[in-house]
Amino acid sequence: MSAILLKQGREKSLLRRHPWIFSGAIHHLDEEAASGATVDLLSFNKQFLARASYSPTSQIRARVWTFEDESVDKEFFRRRICSAIETRQKLNVESQSNAYRLIYAESDGIPGLIVDRYGGVLVLQSLTAGSEFWKETLADILIDETGLSTIYERSDADVRELEGLETSVGLLRGTPNPQLLIIINEHDLKFNVNLESGHKTGFYLDQRANRLRVRELAKDKDVLDCFCYSGGFTVNALAGEAKSVLSVDSSGDALALAKENILLNELPLDKAQLIEGDVFQLLRKFRDENRSFDMIILDPPKFAPTAAQAERAARGYKDINLLAFKLLRPGGTLVTFSCSGGIDAGLFQKIIAGAALDAGADAQIVEHLSQAADHPVSLHFPEGAYLKGLVCLHK
Ligand code: SAH
Repeated sequence: MSAILLKQGREKSLLRRHPWIFSGAIHHLDEEAASGATVDLLSFNKQFLARASYSPTSQIRARVWTFEDESVDKEFFRRRICSAIETRQKLNVESQSNAYRLIYAESDGIPGLIVDRYGGVLVLQSLTAGSEFWKETLADILIDETGLSTIYERSDADVRELEGLETSVGLLRGTPNPQLLIIINEHDLKFNVNLESGHKTGFYLDQRANRLRVRELAKDKDVLDCFCYSGGFTVNALAGEAKSVLSVDSSGDALALAKENILLNELPLDKAQLIEGDVFQLLRKFRDENRSFDMIILDPPKFAPTAAQAERAARGYKDINLLAFKLLRPGGTLVTFSCSGGIDAGLFQKIIAGAALDAGADAQIVEHLSQAADHPVSLHFPEGAYLKGLVCLHK
């Protein structure tokens, strides 16, 4: 096995059990290693620190599989996968939904691997050289340990490029032509999910608890759902007896899905209005028209995937939140999110505070929201906590 010798003093993050080694921390690699191959990480004094996957093209040159001197093989991955499955059983996620995250990469000790379960189908996303190296083995274990037979691969995320990997989409296990249009049940509501073309692995599973919260808060309110995608929040607001829901997305296909999902749940379509447009522009238009709402939901796409784009992203978040505060009626509720890895919870709160101040709104935070429990966060890998949300009350 090849070994990576770190520069002097660069073992600190590993000693705190953070699983990434950046290229700048590396002194040298003693012999060439293939993409995704297992390598030892040694301190400058040649002390064993961890066993990791090697990614020759990525700035994150190695990702730790284990901090123990143990072999990384099929049985190793079986233990990790079983432990991740057990976590979801302890959480009793199945009582909430038949669609949930079974394996969440670093947070479950398997960097690069995401597996979401949609009813009887597993959707797998391999994001790193390491998870790619072990993909077939991981798929075999998943079939063994879940008792399911179908795995559909959705390795189409942009980050694969950084790892030198091409897009890979299609059936990984199971009989040809599986059913990829499925209906999931989440907290007693149904959603159509297209596993082939849906965002991420098909649906925003991470917002499950927050969708339910919106349902609980929406009664008798005029709701504005910005960036509505397939209507997750819209359907919940209608189920929670909102007076009206206006849903905005720039994608006509997303709005068509949202409409289908309203109908699927036999919710009143006459209370819903779906508008195709740019949220940034539409919020301005509503401001100029003096429109107002009792509840506004802002769930934009990632403005800052990494900390490098944080500043530009911060301006984007401030802009839409400032406009939203202006459109909120007294006593109204703002439910606002960021899924940018580059913006931490503290910064997000500051941005929202700045937006309220500039909008002249007197508001208070009544709840902090985050990703659902089936997207856990390793204490040693805080980057796993990407979704931040605040519920603010406008006084
Ligand atoms: N709230 C959704 C997820 C939102 S994903 C849910 O819970 O399921 C982000 C959505 O924003 C995508 O559907 C995308 O089409 C849309 N979008 C991106 N930029 C936009 C813009 N400037 N204006 C309106 N919609 C936009």
